[in-house]
Amino acid sequence: MPAESKKIAAPGVFGKGRELTHLIRDESAKDSAEEKKRPWSIRKVDTQTIGKNRHKWSGHKVIVHLDMDAFFAAIEQQHCPQLKGQPVIIGGLPGYRGVVSTCSYEARVFGIKSAMPTAEAFRRCPVGIFLETSGSKYTYISIDVLNILREFSPILEPFSIDEAFVDITGIWERYGTPASMVKEMQMMIESRTGLTASAGIAHNKILAKMASGMDKPNGLTLVEPGTVGAFLENLPVETVWGIGPATQNALSQLGILTIGQLAMYDVYALRKIFGVHGAALHEIAHGRGDSTVTPYYHQPHEKSIGHETTLPNDTDSIDVIRANLRVLSERVGRRMRKSGYETKRIKLKFRYSDFSTFSRERTLTDYVRSDLAIFQQAVKLLDDNLQKARAIRLVGITVSHLREFKGVAQVEIFEELCEKKNSCICDVMDKIKDIYGDKSITYLSSSFRYK
Ligand SMILES: [Mg+2]
Repeated sequence: MPAESKKIAAPGVFGKGRELTHLIRDESAKDSAEEKKRPWSIRKVDTQTIGKNRHKWSGHKVIVHLDMDAFFAAIEQQHCPQLKGQPVIIGGLPGYRGVVSTCSYEARVFGIKSAMPTAEAFRRCPVGIFLETSGSKYTYISIDVLNILREFSPILEPFSIDEAFVDITGIWERYGTPASMVKEMQMMIESRTGLTASAGIAHNKILAKMASGMDKPNGLTLVEPGTVGAFLENLPVETVWGIGPATQNALSQLGILTIGQLAMYDVYALRKIFGVHGAALHEIAHGRGDSTVTPYYHQPHEKSIGHETTLPNDTDSIDVIRANLRVLSERVGRRMRKSGYETKRIKLKFRYSDFSTFSRERTLTDYVRSDLAIFQQAVKLLDDNLQKARAIRLVGITVSHLREFKGVAQVEIFEELCEKKNSCICDVMDKIKDIYGDKSITYLSSSFRYK
């Protein structure tokens, strides 16, 4: 078997002639038909290699972040071979309002990316194949992938439908090197699901996540503890997980464009400008971060449950906005009850037609779990904060401060309708939906949403 690792410097990223151990696909291995099926070669375990790697990672955890490549689009292409090689765009349909959720690599050539309005995606690629998201199908495959990963390590933390962290500290020794183990994971995923994943290996979660995005699709980037500085130094600050356009802008005004510059900046000054977030950014710039992978069976309460929707047309009609909030509170409420939670905090998000976005939250005195309670709070937040005569483009509701619902009788906190009664109504509606589908029953007031 050919060697699988080479020392390379990723062009334009690491710069300054620095070298990083970066695992790349073995080009020579592509020749044989068998190797085509197995793009990665497997190294035989030898004790010297293990010893060397043990030394490199001594005192550190070995964390892997796996990120499925163009997940939704790849699943559709896998299920319908005619879509292979085509620009497939998942999300809203042309002619309707909505945004791109994921698109295939063929569609990315046209400049299409996630969160782009569908109309813009259609303008860029009229020949694209636009498909609606099919959540249950993606969840099904996602569980398949998690089951494969679980065969490698029990310390597995699902991070989103297409991402997971795996702690392979110590376990990698069976494979010779951490990279060999992760390559096997990638191969196993590909051979069983036909889908590819990109991976990053580092000593904490944030570095592993940044690394997995470096070489997509089907890539593997290794950041050994000794190479963290070289890895981060010349990366643009926006590569950091959690730095959005606003923070990026503020940092560039301070002359901070790379993570190296961020690391050199005075932490007290950062804290003054960005608060706690500033100190956290400084830590990340030095490669420090959380390395605890919380296994799925120890997952704490879901932190929040939310849904949002882009309205069919921009509107300032309170009736239409309220009807949409009714639908959202029903969806959020159902998901929350399905997970066995009740909530104490409700957040309303709204976006005006000029894309300015606001969110307002309210903490309640008691826990609630009915759709109506969520809806009433959302409407109060809307009434208190909405600027009249400005058209709305998007609304969203999120519930947080969740705790397990233990079936305890609720205090009657609403004047006209008590929460306990509403909660019972929701339970009955949930049962009907379980049998006949989510669209089998809803509230009459929801029907105004299309007006
Ligand atoms: Mg992904």
